[in-house]
Amino acid sequence: MERFKPSAISARRRKQKIVVIMGATGAGKSRLSIDFATRFFGNSEVINSDKMQVYSGLDITTNKITMQERFGVPHHLLGVINPTKSPFTPSDFRKVGSEIISDVKSRRGLPLVVGGSNSLIYSLVAKRFDPEADVFKEIDPDPVSSELRYDCCFIWVDVSLPVLNRYLSKRVDEMLESGMFEELVDFFRSGEHESVNRSGLGQAIGLPEFETYFRDFPGYRGVDGADSEEDVTGLAEAYNEAVRKIKDNTCQLAKKQVSKILRLRDAGWEVRRIDATEAFRAVMTAESGGTRVAEIWEKQVVEPSVKIVKQFLDE
Ligand code: ATP
Repeated sequence: MERFKPSAISARRRKQKIVVIMGATGAGKSRLSIDFATRFFGNSEVINSDKMQVYSGLDITTNKITMQERFGVPHHLLGVINPTKSPFTPSDFRKVGSEIISDVKSRRGLPLVVGGSNSLIYSLVAKRFDPEADVFKEIDPDPVSSELRYDCCFIWVDVSLPVLNRYLSKRVDEMLESGMFEELVDFFRSGEHESVNRSGLGQAIGLPEFETYFRDFPGYRGVDGADSEEDVTGLAEAYNEAVRKIKDNTCQLAKKQVSKILRLRDAGWEVRRIDATEAFRAVMTAESGGTRVAEIWEKQVVEPSVKIVKQFLDE
């Protein structure tokens, strides 16, 4: 007869440990996850929780971490969902995400859930999840489940909004310089914007904002040869307007994401806030070099968050 082993049973009953890196768009979540995985918690695997980055396509526009930046760290649910099919819902994320977590655990790995979509994070970790309920609604929201189905360590990378807004505006310019516009031109030129699901990837910031530009100025395609002079002026204005809207909407997104994190925290989730503002201030200061930014990031973001995760894993 098999002997009764209380310790084995309690171990089996213990909830699985996961680390969740939350924060507004642009706050440095991916960078921190790579720091974790490459230097401190070598068995980590990232599960993407950005609802636009789950789809394939528009890699620059949705700001997916590149292969090079991943440093070989396994990433799940990143660019794998067909954007022409029905949208990937929080319920889908709950199901697929939990399967991935079990797989990672079976490899004795540490799941790092990383991304800014709090509705996805909520659906994944809440003990009871009702797809019809909206816990983030501004008016009369449904109650947040304080019971979680995983043992979670929530790290919130926070940057003061005025500083983050300045950074986000700069980031949009950098994304455009690194090929976002060309990516969107290809997307419209190939007709993909017509086949993409409007409730899914079709909502990615960049697409709706550039829609008027591409619709009203067919000359961008270069099909009709040179544009008329009015077209050239109109084109430049429409371009600037699209960029302005992208910056605006990105800043709005950041603000909303922060309010959702606060909602979870106010409901009792133990969200540990890490203030990355100084590192971002340094990024924005022209004379400060990369070394200074790296030093501040290390001291103020990496060190305290690694300490929190180590403690959590040792508990
Ligand atoms: P909600 O359920 O209210 O949409 P959420 O927390 O699930 O909120 P967010 O990740 O905050 O989702 O995204 C809200 C919106 O912000 C998206 O519908 C999209 O328009 C835009 N967005 C989010 N992430 C990206 C991204 N990586 N690239 C482009 N746009 C994005």
